[in-house]
Amino acid sequence: MAESTNFPTVWWDGKLTAWEHATIHVTQIGPASVSSVFEGIRAYLNPRTQQLAVFQLDAHLKRFLQSIRLVRLECDYTLAELHAALVDLVRANQPDRDVYIRPFAYAESRTFGSATSALAHVVMHVTAWESKLQRVPNGSAGTEVVSHATVSSWTRLTDNQMAPRVKASANYLNSRYASEEAKRNGYDHAILLTPQGQVAEGPGMCLMLVRNGKIITPSVTSGILESITRDTVMQLAREKLDVSVSERELDRTELYTADEAFFCGTGIEIVPIVSVDRLNVGDGNPGEITLHLLNMYHDIVRGIDAGYAEWRTVVSDQ
Ligand code: PMP
Repeated sequence: MAESTNFPTVWWDGKLTAWEHATIHVTQIGPASVSSVFEGIRAYLNPRTQQLAVFQLDAHLKRFLQSIRLVRLECDYTLAELHAALVDLVRANQPDRDVYIRPFAYAESRTFGSATSALAHVVMHVTAWESKLQRVPNGSAGTEVVSHATVSSWTRLTDNQMAPRVKASANYLNSRYASEEAKRNGYDHAILLTPQGQVAEGPGMCLMLVRNGKIITPSVTSGILESITRDTVMQLAREKLDVSVSERELDRTELYTADEAFFCGTGIEIVPIVSVDRLNVGDGNPGEITLHLLNMYHDIVRGIDAGYAEWRTVVSDQ
């Protein structure tokens, strides 16, 4: 593998291409970005078999095609074709570690905002992005990775303006404002509210609370990305922990009165939130339900727990 975090082969408009040859003209950076959409997908190694499996591949590709459609680009590829291409791409790079795969669709354009061509170019590439998800031993109170979060002064985008449901590059300027502010003020992560003051999500992740033994998470009409990890966690909570999950509007002050809270998403995985605006969540340590879910998620993404095999697409069989 290449020494950089990027693996040497990318998939671009139907062809496996060397990283250094996958280029477009520098003047396209701005205009081509405006309507671009993307996905972020992880593949995890099983520590025993050393098999690499892509997690929730088809769910991500389905959302990718939906994002392309909603920004009114046309895509030449079906879900099955993108699935096969992504598996080929990962195999071509022969990763010996966990990887992160980014499908990206864009249209070349001469102007900002009005696409001169509606045909989507699709590029997919593989990077090494280490998983921070560590199994927490039974009885241990902590994880190394926790979040001290803050409610952002920036408001989450709304559906009729810059639809958060679409994984559009342009939406991430809103995320950037919120993240930058949170970091500048000494926090790990931001939590964005809707214009009505209800909790939406983090800049690149969804949020769940536990109150009185039940999980609550903002609904898909609360200005969130329809997160695949959120769906995964909800299913695990219901089916494996027998914990009820409600999707509903969430008040800001429920953040301050929750027993437990955590972020979830492909990139962030599951990270316990231990304080919000310097008020401890619960006793200031990751909660029991959060840690249960974190351990279950850890074992399932790596196939250590053989359950939910349909969520894993094995791409290597050494
Ligand atoms: N919200 C936003 C804004 C995101 O960028 C992400 C990461 N894709 C998520 C939520 C989590 O989505 P997923 O679980 O599908 O990665």
